[in-house]
Amino acid sequence: MSQFQRISLVHYHELGLKGHNRTAFEKRLMYNVRTLLEDAPVEKVTRISGRVLVMYAPDADADEVFETVDLLTRVPGVARVSCGFVCDRELDTMYRAADLALREAEPFSTWKVVARRSHTDFPIDSMEMNQLVGAYLCERHPDKKVLMKHPDVEVHVEVVQGHSYLYAHSVPGVGGLPVGTAGKVVCLLSSGIDSPVAMWRMARRGATCIGVHFSGRPQTASTSEYLVDDIAHVLERFGGIARVYVVPFGNYQREIAGSVPPALRIIIYRRLMMRIAERIARKVGAKALVTGESLGQVASQTLDNLAATNASVDMQIFRPLIGSDKVEIIADAQKLGTFDISSTPAADCCTLFMPRSPETHAKIPEVEAAEATLPIERWMDEIMDSLELHEYRCPSSYKSVKCDEKGDVRADDAAVAQ
Ligand code: ATP
Ligand code: MG
Repeated sequence: MSQFQRISLVHYHELGLKGHNRTAFEKRLMYNVRTLLEDAPVEKVTRISGRVLVMYAPDADADEVFETVDLLTRVPGVARVSCGFVCDRELDTMYRAADLALREAEPFSTWKVVARRSHTDFPIDSMEMNQLVGAYLCERHPDKKVLMKHPDVEVHVEVVQGHSYLYAHSVPGVGGLPVGTAGKVVCLLSSGIDSPVAMWRMARRGATCIGVHFSGRPQTASTSEYLVDDIAHVLERFGGIARVYVVPFGNYQREIAGSVPPALRIIIYRRLMMRIAERIARKVGAKALVTGESLGQVASQTLDNLAATNASVDMQIFRPLIGSDKVEIIADAQKLGTFDISSTPAADCCTLFMPRSPETHAKIPEVEAAEATLPIERWMDEIMDSLELHEYRCPSSYKSVKCDEKGDVRADDAAVAQ
């Protein structure tokens, strides 16, 4: 090891609450981090005393490291990411590493040292380390103040096994649970603002997300499909999407539009979309459907219409945005990085064959009577045979994660579950 090597420590508090599941969660997080950092200048990802340790390559520069930290803070399950250095246990080296770490935490005006040793074979206890490192830093930062309660920056000094870890700069993460710990869900993904945010909320709760996009093709151009692919590439960076099934839906909509009362068109398109999503969910072993609906946002999102949509399937439907305002959803889409893509206009299946005045209080018997004239089962079989699959890099596409004796994680079974 060169004198100082850059590191990040990835903290995860929610996992601590999970009792004996903890090890499985830690392994999953470590594996996800390792997979998502495949292209980053990273030498090693391991575990040390309740955190994931990311060791950067010796030639990684500060910009590359901060870019990687930014990515890490967006990975589900990550509560906080700290940055600093690992070095040997020589006091002089530790002082200099602590100083470097503190300088990278600018801007700040107050600070304190928090030292910890996890092995008593290191002769200096934590109180003494606080004093020694504190005295060194005081001399070098005369314009800054030491503050014991709520300082701007904490300089952590940790002696763990043969090394010392020194870090100060620390950034909050998205929290939640590692993707792959909560089973699979199928998300109805339009190229609009809402559904990517809904999908991301499920990914943050540990679900492996599979999208289904209904394109207006061949009645419209494929623009919405390109936008959905761009959205998927954003989510992919954090492990938030595993695959997208694209359904060319335009001809079915045209058929529906030609044979049901105009006011019921939307609800009938939507019920067919749900049924297809349910079939896909059963095929891939997903246990719930997810949409970006929010109560009352548009005519199709009234309680009666949501109930009529629910009645078309026999699977739980989650609507993570049901109680959110558009303004909140837009803010989330901006943070996630999908807002600009979603704001690009594109005709998708939902803009096709829209009635002038859609039903806002659909009655299930009327909807069912209108649907009775349609060859729904035949269409569903046709559609299931013509699904177009797009795969994305999602760590939880791997079925199981195993640890070897050194605590190194490897994916044992690289097959993606059908
Ligand atoms: P979004 O911004 O997500 O498109 P929206 O406000 O435009 O939502 P709707 O068009 O009524 O609202 O769609 C409600 C939900 O239905 C979407 O959030 C999404 O889950 C699903 N949905 C709508 N259109 C499509 C589509 N073309 N493909 C897949 N799912 C869709
Ligand atoms: Mg939409």
